[in-house]
Order: sequence, then structure tokens, then C-alpha cells
Amino acid sequence: MPIRGPRTSRRELMRMAGALALASFARPVAAAGLLDRKPRFLDDPFSLGVASGDPITDSVVLWTRLAPDPFEPAAMEPVPVVVDWEVAADEGMRRTVRKGRAIAHPENAFAVHVDVRGLAPDRDYFYRFRAGDAESPVGRTRTAPLPGAAISRLRFAFGSCQQYEMGYYGAYRDMVAQSPDLIIHLGDYIYEKPWDGGVRRHPWTEAYTLEDYRAYHALYKLDPDLQAAHRAAPWLVTWDDHEVDNDYAGLTSEDYEDPAAFLKRRTAAYRAYFEHMPLRRIATPHDGQVSLYQSVRYGDLLTFFVLDGRQYRSPEACRLLDNGHGRVVNESECRALADPARSLLGLDQEAWLYRGLRKTRTRWNVIAQQLLFAPFDQGKGPDRGVYTDSWGGYQANRNRIIETIATRRPSNPVFIGGDIHSYWVTDIKREPTNPESETVATEFVGSSITSPLDIYPAFEAALPRNPHVRFFEGAKRGYCLVTVTPKAMRADLRTVADPTRPDTPSSTLASFIVEDGRPGAVKA
Ligand code: FE
Ligand code: CA
Repeated sequence: MPIRGPRTSRRELMRMAGALALASFARPVAAAGLLDRKPRFLDDPFSLGVASGDPITDSVVLWTRLAPDPFEPAAMEPVPVVVDWEVAADEGMRRTVRKGRAIAHPENAFAVHVDVRGLAPDRDYFYRFRAGDAESPVGRTRTAPLPGAAISRLRFAFGSCQQYEMGYYGAYRDMVAQSPDLIIHLGDYIYEKPWDGGVRRHPWTEAYTLEDYRAYHALYKLDPDLQAAHRAAPWLVTWDDHEVDNDYAGLTSEDYEDPAAFLKRRTAAYRAYFEHMPLRRIATPHDGQVSLYQSVRYGDLLTFFVLDGRQYRSPEACRLLDNGHGRVVNESECRALADPARSLLGLDQEAWLYRGLRKTRTRWNVIAQQLLFAPFDQGKGPDRGVYTDSWGGYQANRNRIIETIATRRPSNPVFIGGDIHSYWVTDIKREPTNPESETVATEFVGSSITSPLDIYPAFEAALPRNPHVRFFEGAKRGYCLVTVTPKAMRADLRTVADPTRPDTPSSTLASFIVEDGRPGAVKA
């Protein structure tokens, strides 16, 4: 039987019982009155771990969520809880540089987001939380350098697609061992329903409600390797489709759900996502929307443009009436693919991105998005075969990005992506489907942490039609480790030997180098 925590005194319980008798759905009592309470937890309230994210020059966001019994929402009394936090310069937490107090609110599932200010740029810090008698593990984080600072080296890892049932998170264990400055997640952090097979279970049906999505996030966050990766470095995160529903686009679901019902579902999913990620307050869900896209600058070396490819997306092109998910269509039979009025990013985000690409002055410019950005022709005859859930389904938007890069010439543009559960290294061409045209950008896609790609032999068969693809591997899982200096970017495609084994070793599948001023990766 679950034990409720934090435990309250008998007098408080009696006072609460009286209040409940008056108004059983009254809002929790004011937080200020709780500062003297000493909650006692009979199970670890930090069961979901700690995290940090959205680093800027003087600040990072610290995250935790109190969950002594993550799958029993009634396990916590519905009253706010005081959470103390501290940031130190050393791992032993002796040289404290900042500390403070946050309130975990029941309406936010007791999630805590602390925006720590006043930190020094380009520095490691360590942090922990305390609630009642319980103390969290210590996490390591790092601030971004000052905008003009000369940075000699930055190391980041990016990954995506971590279907829990399909494997263990050995890829994250390897990421931790590489000690990157930053970890980027490009979407499919959770998957919204159970799949067949696999080595562990989603013990529920498909998620629709806030409670459902919270449970899915909690299940994933209980994984020890994922927790260790959150403790090891600050994260930048964006989502893809499975944080809500397979292949959704804006307010259009793959199952043609009633738009009002789907908006309710998406609102619940977005809220649970925010509650479980180290995101800034600006991303707080509001009217069913979350402001997720952002640029993050690392000195004079690199700018990340982190994109949201789902929230503002036009409905997918040429959907079938019995099922609205992505499919491969013949390009000549689907005129909507190239319709300039359709957008994957939405016009506001597009304008923001083009402004950013025009103005950026950093040596490297990484466009961190969900998908394979390069075209991929899966046709078998004379016609091009285009997958509608990909950038190929939004060709005018892709052309506008390439046009901006080709005319405004931001220094060293590199796309990083996920979603497609396979490794790709591609040349982004001035005319996207003309392999003879100039290469204007480089692309790396880092496979998936666990999610499989059963149809990779079909992708391999289509490679001769796609000469701009320099490398493809669909049978292996893993992530991508990137080392950036002013002279070059090196991408190590790290792969796990067997994602179905919790203790799987990792190795480098292949390494590629992009030299400053020369778009297109070459094998190291
Ligand atoms: Fe995926
Ligand atoms: Ca996806």
C-alpha cells in the first residue's frame, strides 16, 4: 500500500480534514504558511532524478520533481512543498555559490524549475536539492561562454528516439563516459503507447490525459542511465511527434481525432513535457502552447538554433482518409508537397530562423531539428518517392531555409537531426535534388537511442538514387558525439553493440570531419 508523503503532523491533518469538509477542491494553502513544515518522506522524493538545462552565460535551469511514488498521484498530499536548492563550485558541494528556496506545487505534479542567476560564464557547477529530510543526488552543469569569448573547443552529444520497451539506455551510459559539455535531445523522448515485443514494458495503453503523460514521463525518468545523463551535463531539448502522438502536425492527429479533443490531448502532453524537462520559464505552457524554439550561443565558436518542427506544422500532404499518418507518395501525384503556403516550422518560426541565420557571427551554426533534412528519394521508378512526414513533405519551407543559407552565408551551417532511427551524413545542396549543385551545408543524423528501423534494407536499396548521402547505417542504435574547434567539427557516430542488453558496450561506428569553410563532411 502506498504511503503518503510528505507526512504531516496530526494537528495539520485535522486542520486539513476540516478544510476539506468545507471545500474538498479548494486550492492548496498559501505557500508562505508552509515554510515551517518539515515534510518527511517514507520513499525517496527524488526518485526521478535531477537535471539542468538551457544554459546561458550567467544562468542554468535546475530541475527536479518530487515523486516518492511516481505512479500514484495521490501519494503526495495536495499541498505545496518547500524545496531548497544549492549550487556549488565543487563536486563535494563545499564551496556554495548560490542557494535558494523553491516551492513544488501539486498542480504542477510537484515539478521544480529553478532559474539560477548570477553564475560565471563558461564554468562547471554542481547542484542538489533538499526537501524535508531528503537530499537529491548531485548534478553537474555548465554555463555558456560570453558572446564574444574566444572558445577553443566545445563538445556536445545529440540523440533522439528512445522507445523504452525496445531497449536499455547504454547509449546514455556511453555519453556520460565521454563527459560532453552539453547534451541535446532531438525528440521522441517518450513514446505515447506500447509497442509489440521489446525487453521491457509500457504497462499502460495509449496516453491521452495529463495523468497518462505524466506516468509515461516518470517511467522513462526512472531509468538509471537516463538519470545519469541528466546529472552529467546541461541539456537542450526539443520534441518530435511521440511526445504527443505519432505523426501529428499542429492540431491534426494521425487518427483524425476531433480537433478540440486533440487540442486537449496535446495540451496535456505539452504540460507533462514541461513538467519533466529542465526548461526555462518562457517555455511554461500557456493556452496549450509551449515556446520551445530558441538560439543558444557559445562564445564566438558556435550558435545552436533549436527548432520545433511539430507545434506549428501545416497538416501533412496528401493524407489518406482512413489514416492520416506519413506515407511515401509519388512526387508528381501530390502537388501539396511543394505548396509555398505550407510550412513545417510555421511562418513566425521561419522568420525568426532567417533573422538568426542572417545575423549570426559565430564560426559554426548548428541547426538542431528533429528530422533528416536532406531530400531522400525512395522511388522505384521514374518518379521521386517522398515521405510526407519528413522535410520532403514541406519542400517550400526547406527551400526557403536553403535559400537563406545560400544567399546570407552564415558561417559553417550544420544540420543535426533524428526521427529516422538511422545514421546519416549528407551534403545539403544549393538545389536540394540536384547532386551537381553546390554543397551549402553539412548534415549529421545520429540514429536512435533504442528505437528500431525495420525497413532499413529498403533505404539501402534507394541509396543509389541519392548521391548526396555520404553515409547511411540503419541496423545500429546510438548517438552522435561532436567536437568543435575553430578549425573543424568532428562527429563520432557512437553505437551500442546490443541495445537489448543493459550492460552493452559502445564503440565508434565511423567518424567524419567538416573543415572550417568547406561544407560537406569527409570520413576521418
Ligand atoms: Fe522516433
Ligand atoms: Ca518521430
